[in-house]
Amino acid sequence: MSKASPLLVVGSIGLDTVETRLGKRADVLGGAASYFSVAASFLAPVRLVGVVGSDFPPAHTELFQAHQVDLAGLERVAGRTFRWSGVYAPDFSTRTTLDTQLNVFSDFRPKLPAAWADSPYLFLANIDPTLQLSVLDQTEKQGQKPRFVACDTMNFWIEGRRSELLRLLARVDMLLLNDEEARQLSGEANLPAAARAIRALGPRAVVIKRGDAGALLFHEGGVFAAPAFPIENVVDPTGAGDSFAGGFMGWLAREGDTSPATIRTAMILGSVLASFSVEDFSLDRFRRLDVSQIRERFAAFADLVHFEKIKL
Ligand code: AMP
Repeated sequence: MSKASPLLVVGSIGLDTVETRLGKRADVLGGAASYFSVAASFLAPVRLVGVVGSDFPPAHTELFQAHQVDLAGLERVAGRTFRWSGVYAPDFSTRTTLDTQLNVFSDFRPKLPAAWADSPYLFLANIDPTLQLSVLDQTEKQGQKPRFVACDTMNFWIEGRRSELLRLLARVDMLLLNDEEARQLSGEANLPAAARAIRALGPRAVVIKRGDAGALLFHEGGVFAAPAFPIENVVDPTGAGDSFAGGFMGWLAREGDTSPATIRTAMILGSVLASFSVEDFSLDRFRRLDVSQIRERFAAFADLVHFEKIKL
């Protein structure tokens, strides 16, 4: 990993209660920044900014440490950790959020460790856009700018913090969001039209995640599609989008490059990490993952989509 650049992430870190047709787990490790950090850690060194409460189990902190995630920007404060709970339809086609408690995130004012202000790759994972803006501000001090800034968001913030979100979008290179969120944000039902409208708000690239239908990238090089790897044993789709973002940004940071060709490969690494994430509850699949499995699934991906051009 020697040539990889540091990758900074801010976002939710929390305790999730999740029910799928394969079971229920209460108060397990979740949060967008958690999935992102551990997924990305297989490819690049990760710096995590966030907050947890006094009830956050030390075992969760140890998982981040086991993946060499730098926790100098992780605050532990008195109070309850962020909590989210949701239930999936038996065929995983829909998810219903039962509860969101921001808890310690309500009063969080992120403060970047001084040495992190020059982080070249920045991911503003799903959390209040006000917090995403605050971290972006701290990396843009003294005239410096990160090389590549991407962000994520969700319906909760599109509804509740629209004007802050629009201010953020004007300043990022790329937005990742799912198809419903893209429609909600843009007011366009058609995805290419939605992507065009979103790019007009600021980001030069937009990735629209479509669950098991894969992800679409719209950027200056046109459109690129990455399928979702066909997985038979889907256990819990929570965090697939964040794991996708982790694989994606991890690859850019590893290569130190944001050219259209590298971004295409990053789309496949995103799909690879997402495909592992859904194979178990919480971040449990990552506990048993190693780089050789990532390499193997990447190769299987290449076979999955390989075809020859024809002369007709
Ligand atoms: P995904 O499945 O990729 O949408 O991400 C799921 C993760 O997002 C869960 O682990 C939740 O803890 C987290 N999450 C849910 N709602 C919110 C929210 N309003 N703000 C930040 N993170 C959230």
